[in-house]
Amino acid sequence: MPANNDPTNATTAIIGAGITGLCVAHSLQQQSSEQISFDLIDSAQKVGGAIQSTLSNGYLAEHGPNSILIKDKRIATLLRQIGLDGDNADAELLPARPEATRRYIVQNGFTVAMPGTPTALISSPLFSLKGKMRLLLEPFIGRLQKRGNPQREESFADFVRRRFGPELLASAAAPFVSGIYAGNPETLSVRHAFPRLWAIEQKHRSILLGLIAQQLGAENNPHQLKPSQIVSFRSGMHALPNAIADSLPQKSLHLGAKISSIEPNDNGWTIKWTDQQGKDQQKDYRNIVITTPPHKLSRLALPAKLHQTLQPVFDIASPPVTSLVLGFKREEIAHPLDGFGMLIKQSENSPLLGVLFSSSMFDGRAPDGHVALTCMMGGSINPQYADNDDQVVLQELDKLLGVTGKPSFRHQTTWPQAIPQYSLNYQEKLNTLNTCEQSYPGLHLAGNYRNGISVVDCMLNGLDLGKKLSRHSSTLH
Ligand SMILES: Cc1cc2nc3c(=O)[nH]c(=O)nc-3n(C[C@H](O)[C@H](O)[C@H](O)COP(=O)(O)OP(=O)(O)OC[C@H]3O[C@@H](n4cnc5c(N)ncnc54)[C@H](O)[C@@H]3O)c2cc1C
Repeated sequence: MPANNDPTNATTAIIGAGITGLCVAHSLQQQSSEQISFDLIDSAQKVGGAIQSTLSNGYLAEHGPNSILIKDKRIATLLRQIGLDGDNADAELLPARPEATRRYIVQNGFTVAMPGTPTALISSPLFSLKGKMRLLLEPFIGRLQKRGNPQREESFADFVRRRFGPELLASAAAPFVSGIYAGNPETLSVRHAFPRLWAIEQKHRSILLGLIAQQLGAENNPHQLKPSQIVSFRSGMHALPNAIADSLPQKSLHLGAKISSIEPNDNGWTIKWTDQQGKDQQKDYRNIVITTPPHKLSRLALPAKLHQTLQPVFDIASPPVTSLVLGFKREEIAHPLDGFGMLIKQSENSPLLGVLFSSSMFDGRAPDGHVALTCMMGGSINPQYADNDDQVVLQELDKLLGVTGKPSFRHQTTWPQAIPQYSLNYQEKLNTLNTCEQSYPGLHLAGNYRNGISVVDCMLNGLDLGKKLSRHSSTLH
């Protein structure tokens, strides 16, 4: 027999305690209204989803994200509220070292620094004179003409080629797409995968002129934090989900839960699950927020009709990615490792997507006299490289960075379906999500396959959704 409905009767069930679900819960908690209670239900034994860290032998290995870019005051506020940022010297918040602003691109087998200023661009060997001249033409390029086909989606690659020319695509923009999405620029939709870039073109026509207008403060974004900051946390990225979870009422956290049914009822939803102790649970909720990734959403015990309608969402491609953290003695690497890391041009035919210089980015990632490298492999273009063996990786590291020794530390995480791709048919997925939410009152579908894949995007989406739910709840009382 399932346990009776809890008399406190939470109004919202949040399925998935990754960063999106945690931020929905945090936002609901901040409204501090007794009526707005919630349960956060996850099948895993730990919170955080993709955000996990391992500390071993003096090395700190990230399984998923290594850093976040804070450029929004709402994120800075949340970090203070959960105690990760404070005036004390041992606060968890860990800004990246100054040299982390330098990023390398691998071209013709060599690491070349990405130009960070217009002057550096003029002398950079990354682009030919013709390529540089083409960049300067960008302010004169018009918006995309969709003659006869208003629905046509433009790929990120076509967008960059049209506005900046093919060299910028090959030498900087495409490697950047590997770094963010592990994706293929030819199949990602610029409108959905890079909405801010797309919006600049819509508003200003020219990206360069639009960026200058933003720099000059001509646009008023009340949430913008200046300067933006790349950060992690002293004990690793997992400090972020852990601190949010610690700040929530512990009775609302249900880890290790096996959900057996999710069904609509007259007033909302009924969820049945088996808890960590093997006890059957059943509860009614007004709202249900599902934040599992698309491939996990397909395996949830949803009503048959909803499951059928959601099929296009289940089909969102998410290529595999492996994150391999290797530790070496400092003297075993010839490269100065004076930067964030290196991204690799596709024409290099490398078995790696890129390498983060983890111990150069942040303090405390390797023991004294040692360094840590995080190799990213796989992705949309070469998914088979997610299975590289170490010999292949070490040969490539030797070729690109002069790595000679044997690693003294190794930690590997393979994500079989790592990052959802906002591809050219993404509008169909969005339409499906909107249709399902309209057809099933109280249903909310969130997570990194909607409104951005970065940790910060997931956090902002979670905070916004929590606010929306609490506003809605208060109007019902
Ligand atoms: C290798 C890698 C590197 C990355 N690097 C960066 C980076 O440097 N910076 C950055 O900003 N972003 C990065 N990202 C992206 C970012 O980490 C993710 O997009 C984000 O963490 C996703 O959060 P989420 O809450 O939406 O989903 P998830 O983290 O996937 O959480 C979903 C949760 O749902 C739970 N769940 C699944 N099935 C069920 C079920 N049946 N019942 C109950 N619960 C269930 C899971 O256990 C999980 O806790 C990276 C991602 C990867 C994979």
